[in-house]
Amino acid sequence: MLRRFTRSVVLVALVAILAQAAFPAPAAAGFAGSHWARERNPFTLKFGDNVDGTWDGYLRRGADEWNRSRVVNANVVGGQGGRNCRANRGRAEVCDGRYGSTRWLGLTQVYLEGNHIVAARVLMNDSYFDTGYYDDPSAKRHTMIHEMGHAYGLPHRGGRSVMNDSATAIFKYDQVTGGDYNDLEQLYRHTDGRTTVSSADASAPFTEAELTAPPPTAGELGGTEKVEDLGNGKTLVTIITPLDA
Ligand SMILES: [Zn+2]
Ligand SMILES: [Zn+2]
Repeated sequence: MLRRFTRSVVLVALVAILAQAAFPAPAAAGFAGSHWARERNPFTLKFGDNVDGTWDGYLRRGADEWNRSRVVNANVVGGQGGRNCRANRGRAEVCDGRYGSTRWLGLTQVYLEGNHIVAARVLMNDSYFDTGYYDDPSAKRHTMIHEMGHAYGLPHRGGRSVMNDSATAIFKYDQVTGGDYNDLEQLYRHTDGRTTVSSADASAPFTEAELTAPPPTAGELGGTEKVEDLGNGKTLVTIITPLDA
C-alpha cells in the first residue's frame, strides 16, 4: 500500500517535470529575440509611408537595403498612421514630425505578444534633422535604416554596422552590412506555425491608447531602451537613437 502510494507520487512528479519541459513558462518579456511570426522565409514586412517628401527617398532606400536580405522583404505602402502615427497590426508605420526637444533622433516602438512582434512604429524627429548638425544625408540614411532594423526585431550591434547607435556610427555607417544581414538570418532561422505579418491576426488587441501614445522623451524613457509589461502577455518596447550627449 505504502509502496504503491510512493510510486504514484513519483509518477505524478515525473509527469509534472515532463509537462514543464514540453510547455515551458514564457520567457521574460524583453526585446532580445523578438521577431515577427511567419510560416516561411522570406516574408514581407509592410512599411507604411507617413513621411513627408524630404524622407521618402530615405524610406525607399532603407527598404531597398533590407530587401537584399535572404529572410526578409520590405514593401513600402501607403501610410495608415495618421496624425498620431498609430501603430497598426501586421505592419510598421514610419512617420516624421517636429516632435520637439525629445533628445532622440529616431524612435522605434515594437508591440509584442509573447516574443512575437505584432506591430511597430518608427518616428524621425525633424526638430533635429531640419537644423544644423543632423541635417546631413548620412545621419538621415543611418537613422532611417537603423530604426527599420529595429522594426524587424534587430537589437544594437557594435562595430561596422547600421545597428550601431554610437554618436560616430550615425554619420559613418549608413548601409546595412554583412553582420546585420547575418543577425537577421539568426533571428529568423526558425519558422512559426502562425503569422503576425498580417492584419487578419487579431488576437489580444492592444488598446487604442497604447497604439497612439505620444512618443516619450529620452528623459521620460530613462535610457535608450524601455520594456513595458502591459499585461496579458503584451509588451511594449521603445528604443531610441539618442542625441549626441
Ligand atoms: Zn517565432
Ligand atoms: Zn537603435
